[in-house]
Amino acid sequence: MNVIVFNCGSSSMKFQIIDTDKEKIEQNKDRQLAKGLIERIGSQSLISFQVEGKSSFKEALPLRDHRAALNYIIKWITSPETEIPGIRGLEDIHAIGHRVVHGGEKFKESIRIDNDVIQGIEDCIDLAPLHNPANLKGIYAAREIFGPSIPQVAIFDTAFHSTMPETNYLYAIPYQIYRRYKIRKYGFHGTSHRYISFRYRVLTNKTREETNIITLHLGNGSSACAIKNGKSFATSMGFTPLEGLVMGTRCGDIDPTVIEYLAHKEGATIDEVFSILNKRSGVLGISGLTNDMRDLIAEVEEHQDRRAQLAIDMFCERVKKYIGAYAAAMNACDAICFSAGIGENSPLIREKICENLDILGIKIDKKLNNQAVGGKEMKISHKESKIEIYVIPTNEELVFARDTVRVVMNLPKSK
Ligand code: ADP
Repeated sequence: MNVIVFNCGSSSMKFQIIDTDKEKIEQNKDRQLAKGLIERIGSQSLISFQVEGKSSFKEALPLRDHRAALNYIIKWITSPETEIPGIRGLEDIHAIGHRVVHGGEKFKESIRIDNDVIQGIEDCIDLAPLHNPANLKGIYAAREIFGPSIPQVAIFDTAFHSTMPETNYLYAIPYQIYRRYKIRKYGFHGTSHRYISFRYRVLTNKTREETNIITLHLGNGSSACAIKNGKSFATSMGFTPLEGLVMGTRCGDIDPTVIEYLAHKEGATIDEVFSILNKRSGVLGISGLTNDMRDLIAEVEEHQDRRAQLAIDMFCERVKKYIGAYAAAMNACDAICFSAGIGENSPLIREKICENLDILGIKIDKKLNNQAVGGKEMKISHKESKIEIYVIPTNEELVFARDTVRVVMNLPKSK
């Protein structure tokens, strides 16, 4: 079955075409056929498409909206020169999966899209005013262009965390306020944490019930998740992705009073303060240089830049704090799993996070740690470590495609 999965932002559209079905999922033989990205939709758009194993096709041309972008993608997919294996026309695409950021309290798993589901996603716009409308643009465009005969599925970033207990998802604010406005922790990166946890079970041959781990999705946006008995038990992002770890440009945990104080001092609006906390904080804000971890590390190595070092230290310290908190909250932790851009590629950051965690019996194997770069999936803990440490590259698109197949074919969840 050929599935196309979309991940739409306000001015971008990412897609992958993945060949998958029941057998391929079971044998881990799904095959990525093609992928692409269109950025700057609405102005001079930048296009980068690639058929698996071939060099990429790049172009810049104006695309007015998501519908125009999708039409362009389809033209490329179905063009005889493109030669995607097994795909000659639109009829060779059998199902569509859409990443949707916020499912609120309503969507606890992936679901086939119909008018009610669209209404439900629209109802969550208040909770994710930047993301859900962008995701919906992709859904509307795909419905219009592919027509009703191709099934479409929504996969929610928040769904995996719907198993968090009340004690962990509530904020200690008046309960009526939670009831009235649904102000609570939702958590994000759910598809990624779910995939990492699934790979951990495959690698260790454990059941869901036996899975007690901490997953660390460390990228430009970062979050930690405590997974207890295979389910999300606690996660660091909250009502929005701003809470939790120190990120590329987001501050993570902060005393909310700072917002009022800063607005007052700077004569700034609430929106302006949030723009500082979302876009100008994190390691960018501390270093004053960049949000890119690679560049920060280079600044320290080449110029011994003090604030770049400080930003790295704060990033790692916050992750450590969550590891300790989650190990205590679960009263169990068999493994820590690193993932995403930084987690998959930076031995230095992983080592720094794991150092001085003797109290938990965490010991990294430096040699293995240095080998785990560029998409390798492997164990990097020392044999004496009480808690195992893994690097597990994330693959959200694969989860989108597999969920799409599962929902369309009514298959049970993975073991
Ligand atoms: P997101 O999906 O949240 O945008 P990614 O998962 O793509 O982010 O991760 C991007 C981050 O990963 C960037 O900060 C980048 O510098 C970092 N990164 C990638 N490779 C390395 C590396 N070799 N060493 C350190 N950081 C890296």
